[in-house]
Order: sequence, then C-alpha cells, then structure tokens
Amino acid sequence: MTARILDGTKIRDEIFAELKDKVATLTARGVRPGLAAVLVGENPASQLYVKSKIAACEQLGLASWLHTPPASATTEWMLQLVDDLNRDDNVDGILIQLPLPPQVDAKRVLQAVSPAKDVDGFHPVSMGMLVSNRPGLVACTPAGCMEILRRNGIAVEGANAVVLGRSDIVGKPMALLLLHANATVTVCHSKSRDLPEIIRRADILVAAIGRAGFVRADWIKPGAAVIDVGTNKVTDAAEAKRLLANFPARLEKFAAKGNVLVGDVHPDALNTAGALTPVPGGVGPMTITMLMSNTVKAANLRRGVGLASEDQSQPAATAR
Ligand code: NAP
Repeated sequence: MTARILDGTKIRDEIFAELKDKVATLTARGVRPGLAAVLVGENPASQLYVKSKIAACEQLGLASWLHTPPASATTEWMLQLVDDLNRDDNVDGILIQLPLPPQVDAKRVLQAVSPAKDVDGFHPVSMGMLVSNRPGLVACTPAGCMEILRRNGIAVEGANAVVLGRSDIVGKPMALLLLHANATVTVCHSKSRDLPEIIRRADILVAAIGRAGFVRADWIKPGAAVIDVGTNKVTDAAEAKRLLANFPARLEKFAAKGNVLVGDVHPDALNTAGALTPVPGGVGPMTITMLMSNTVKAANLRRGVGLASEDQSQPAATAR
C-alpha cells in the first residue's frame, strides 16, 4: 500500500483563497484585519519567519506592522510595547516572535498580550477557552493539523487517536482538538511505556517530538492517517542513508545540499499508512496559514461576529 499524500501546500492555497474573500468583505465594511509582529534583535531564522508572515499578510490584503526593538530591549520596554498594541484598535493580532533575548521575561510578555489579540493561541486564557471548547484562538500548528484531517475527509469521531508529544504549543492543544472532535485520545511523551504497542492501535497518529524518523514504519497500523509535525534537519550522511534508503531521489538531493528535512515518522511509513503528511510540504505550510486565519478570526471575535461555522474542532466528513 502507498499512502495518500496529505498535501499541506494545497490546503494552504484553498484557505488563502477563502481568507482573501473574507478579508475583502471585512475591508469593504470598513474593517481591515491587521497583524502586528514584534521581532526583537537580529536572529536570522526569526527574521526569515517574520518576513514570511508579513508577506502572507500582504498576499491576503491584511494590514501588518513590524516592530523591531533592539536585542538589548528590556522586559519593561516590551511590556509597554505590548500595552500600546493592545490599546490600538487597528491591531487585531499580536505576534511576539520567539525566542526573546535572555534578559526579557518571555512568560510575562506573552501573558501581557490581550487574549483577544492572541493569534498564536499561547495565552493561558486561550488555552482555557480550548479546554472548555469555546470559540477562541487556537494554537496555529494543531489547528492546521485539524484542517488537514477535515479537508481530506478523514473521520475523527470514534477514531483511536494517538498524539506523540505533550508540548503546550503542539501536543496538548492537538489532543484537546481531537477530543472535542470525538476521538478517543491517548497522549504519549518521553516517559510513556510500550510506545510501539500504543501507536499500533492508532487510527490517527500525530507525531510531534522533534526526533527524525523516530516512529518506525512497522509501528503504524496499516491504513492509519499519519500527521507528522516533526521538522528535523538531518545533516549526518549515515543518518540520511538510514532514513532515506528507499528514497534515492531524496538521497541525491541530500548529497547535493548537505542536509534534508525529515519528520518524526520514518519515511518508510509511506508503505504502511493509509494517508500521510509529507515533510516538507505537509504540516509546515499550515502554521502561517492558521496564523492568518486566526488574525481574521480575531478581527471578527473582537466585533462579536458569531463563529460557530469556524469551529476548528468539528470534523467536516465521516468517511475515512
Ligand atoms: P517540544 O516542546 O520539544 O516537545 C517535545 C515533546 O516530545 C515533549 O512532550 C517530549 O516529552 C516528547 N518526546 C521527546 N522525545 C520523546 C521520545 N523519545 N519518546 C516520546 N516522547 C518524546 O517540541 P514541540 O515544540 O512540540 O515540537 C515538536 C516537533 O514539531 C519539532 O520537530 C518541531 O520542530 C516541530 N514543529 C513543527 C511545526 C510546523 O510548523 N511544522 C510547528 C511546531 C513544531 P516530555 O514532555 O516527556 O519531555
């Protein structure tokens, strides 16, 4: 069996087209949703991430603002900036690009963001809304994973779902979203026993641990849907060979580039799973997509527009 590929890029394009219409409708009513990004210092990776987020805003017609405090910014300075953005009625979403410099109390700064503008979904209030299944802003990566399942007609209700990883930004919110969509959810972590046995029972597996090819192909239940969140840069030739022995074209690319991105699930799972997100090109494109979606959602929520139709925990289809 060769798994169906769950193409995140295609879903990103679908959602972008929908968002473009929503933004145009809102703008015509005099509301132009807007995202304020805060990038402290000059970390090249962070600069690249923020650049793509601003570019996505421009593509969709969202307003965007980029604040670039110096690497020497203090906690107090950051709190003042967040307070200004909280009060600015034009700003619907506030994005604090992580990591922050060591002298800045990141928890205090993130907690100072108004929950109404918390488009990353990291604020304890946003988490509380998710726990109690109320409309709110959900962390982007898990929300994107739900969109992948939903838009591919993968049945969640009644399914055995296993979430590997329990971080606040991926594993925990993912487990809650699956639970609200009526899956039977098992959450595993580094202290879990008998992982292969637990994973073998999964109709849906979400892997988010940050270990290249950790989940072996023979742990996957034949036909299962596999959402691979892991994004691991492999630079060691022996490791690349171990992971990609059955993918000569990818090995050739590794030889040319010196690195390759591999998920937390061994690439050979392509022959066991029923459906699978590729790495890259699966979950990756969904994170910025859901950030854009959250900004539009925040613009609506702040104005009291009903959002029942945008409840990301609800599955759209029942066929697997
Ligand atoms: P994280 O905060 O480091 O959390 C990792 C989780 O995995 C922890 O719960 C940890 O367990 C668990 N874990 C680690 N080793 C394990 C093992 N051997 N067996 C079982 N569980 C293990 O990571 P994260 O932020 O959730 O990210 C996870 C992965 O997703 C990373 O590869 C990251 O790059 C990727 N990611 C991708 C996107 C995207 O847009 N595609 C977005 C976010 C993250 P303990 O809690 O017991 O320590």
